[in-house]
Amino acid sequence: MQDRKTTRSRAPGSGPVRKGRGVRATRLTRRAFLVALGAGGLARPRPLAGMEPDYRHVNGVGGAPAQISGRRVDDPAATRLVILHTNDTHSRIDPFPNDGGPFAGLGGAARRATLIRRIREANEHVLLVDSGDIFQGTPYFNFFGGEIEFRVMTAMGYDVATLGNHDFDNGVDGLVAMLPEAGFEFVSANYDVSASALAGHVPPWTVRDFGGVRVGIFGLGIAFEQLVLASLHEGVRYADPIAAAQLACRELRARGCALIVCLSHLGYRYADPARPSDRVLAREVPEIDLILGGHTHTFMERAEVFEQGRTGFTLVNQVGWGGMRLGRIDVAFDGAEAVGWGAGGYEVAPSP
Ligand SMILES: [Zn+2]
Repeated sequence: MQDRKTTRSRAPGSGPVRKGRGVRATRLTRRAFLVALGAGGLARPRPLAGMEPDYRHVNGVGGAPAQISGRRVDDPAATRLVILHTNDTHSRIDPFPNDGGPFAGLGGAARRATLIRRIREANEHVLLVDSGDIFQGTPYFNFFGGEIEFRVMTAMGYDVATLGNHDFDNGVDGLVAMLPEAGFEFVSANYDVSASALAGHVPPWTVRDFGGVRVGIFGLGIAFEQLVLASLHEGVRYADPIAAAQLACRELRARGCALIVCLSHLGYRYADPARPSDRVLAREVPEIDLILGGHTHTFMERAEVFEQGRTGFTLVNQVGWGGMRLGRIDVAFDGAEAVGWGAGGYEVAPSP
């Protein structure tokens, strides 16, 4: 079933800001952060306006409110983009059963759909994405091969997803057969599908426009070795994700993107620092603004923040697995310039 044990990440961004390698002058200095909060020495984060009150905030678990930084994320004059994200949903259409287990009653596609709908009602610009491993984990997949998963995500209005290793569990042909059910796009910048049945279906990146703000979204997949049988990814070639990310960023910046989002199925971090992961990616490719991760099933209580790049930030986030959480990152734009962000999310749980 799941290829990694569930891990609970201990506040990876417990320091408010980590500096990436080769950091130049950035916009989101500690001083600016404090000024933005109007807080002097009291750098206490405050909840984002517009967070839904009756779903528990992820960053609200344990009482801490959402992270907020930068300038003017709440400025009504700015264009605000709300980015909602999931990963490793693993065919969990129903909530986890009430069996006394650690996840009893959590998740459920219907509940997630309601939450997403309410966020859309409250916000003009919403981007909904998934970071892979949509398939595998319940009999829904065994019986219907992914049809239910794709149809449910389409009904929720997903915009873009990337491919996880388990999305190949019925082979390339099994995935291609389900694509007509997916009313959303798949992207992968480091899986070369040109010699496979997926040819033409998985571009490296896509560009979306939100009120005149262009947002570039690209995907990255994990190496197949020891995860996907050669016969199941026939014709799909894995390439170095770092080089692919650098190229994607150049292409997306050249197309006027004010924000670059990476949907990553690389995994959050590994003991081997040479193995590509979201943390390695953040350090190596500071042009990425958001890295929305998957694969390691990491429950991050806070987004990890690197002060770097053109916008002054790279945020890394991941929301566990099984649809138990919905991540949310808000970015405010002044024209084509990202001027502030907020990070938070929701536990998809029964109403209290
Ligand atoms: Zn995976």
